[in-house]
Amino acid sequence: MSIEMVNLKAQYAAVKDEIDAAVQEVVDGCVFILGESVTRLERRIAEVSGAAYGVSVASGTDAILIGLRAMGIGAGDEVITTPFTMVATTEAIALTGARAVYADIDPVTLNIDPADIEQRITPRTKAIVPVHLFGSCADMTTIRQIARTHNLGLLADAAQAIGAVAGGQPIGAMADVSTLSFYPTKNLGAYGDGGMILTNDESLAAKAKSLRYHGMKPGSYYHDDIGYCSRLDELQAAILLVKLKYLESWNEKRRQNAAVYLSSLADMPVSLPALPENGKHTFHQFTLRYNRRDEMQAMLREKGIGSAIYYPLPLHMQPAYRCLGYSEGDFPNAEAASREVLSVPVHADLTDEQVQFVGATIRSAIMELERR
Ligand SMILES: *Cc1c(COP(=O)(O)O)cnc(C)c1O
Repeated sequence: MSIEMVNLKAQYAAVKDEIDAAVQEVVDGCVFILGESVTRLERRIAEVSGAAYGVSVASGTDAILIGLRAMGIGAGDEVITTPFTMVATTEAIALTGARAVYADIDPVTLNIDPADIEQRITPRTKAIVPVHLFGSCADMTTIRQIARTHNLGLLADAAQAIGAVAGGQPIGAMADVSTLSFYPTKNLGAYGDGGMILTNDESLAAKAKSLRYHGMKPGSYYHDDIGYCSRLDELQAAILLVKLKYLESWNEKRRQNAAVYLSSLADMPVSLPALPENGKHTFHQFTLRYNRRDEMQAMLREKGIGSAIYYPLPLHMQPAYRCLGYSEGDFPNAEAASREVLSVPVHADLTDEQVQFVGATIRSAIMELERR
């Protein structure tokens, strides 16, 4: 048996007829940029995410970058964020001209630690950018309170969290701006790149729409801002509209798969993802922590089970971000997580049999390692 981290071929096979028809319709219509599918997708995703406005862009990275620009973030500003995430979060902050300032993570949730955020606030701080890592929401109740108290902007990177709920609220309602990615392997993936900015602020949405299209109103050729060429195209929007119908059932299957792992590993000496109270995890990744991670990964590989390390090196230790001036030891929780995390297949196209096999194989690998 070979079980990979994603199986996009199986997903396509399940919805092929609808996808093929949607693609053909766009090609027949010959409207490729900012047409009806994009408008419809923006409305639908905003609706299911509890936000008033959705502004689609060319990637999840651009969604953070343009979201921050629309909030007025730029050179001279500091933005507090997590060092334990996909690089795009920090990259987008850097691309605005602002400086990323890290706060360490909570060792249990792996999300940014609100208590450490407060320690990092300076007169230059303009915004906080938490990430809902692996599909579990950051502690937004506390972070919102900090943002309000210090008059800071709040953008949440929800690239891994479409469909997540925390404190009874969907992602679009938790921050001034929340951003999505439609990278093919995300829970709602396009057949190429794509992203979206979610907000309840009408003028911020209008600014984002201008920034994605060279800083102008479409077709006006008068430019208010130095913008970007960052639109989601009609083909991707049409594909995403088909897949959006299945998103909740796919997320539910991920939760069921996770429940199998949680019960087969409950008594093992590993740290497991926590389920939110009054909320929903999206299980973009099922990530466990084990102090013999590398040995376990090798044993899974021998049994044909793929796995991945998200993320092997915290951002403050990456060559590209040495310019921020941090060194090893500055964020001990993020560094320890990097040494111990392992993500295992949890996607919606796993069969129940495969899920049982993965759960049982991890369990016996741990038992064997503990005996050695
Ligand atoms: C995927 C991802 C992004 C970037 O999305 P792209 O669409 O690849 O640009 C940003 N942040 C996180 C946490 C991600 O997982």
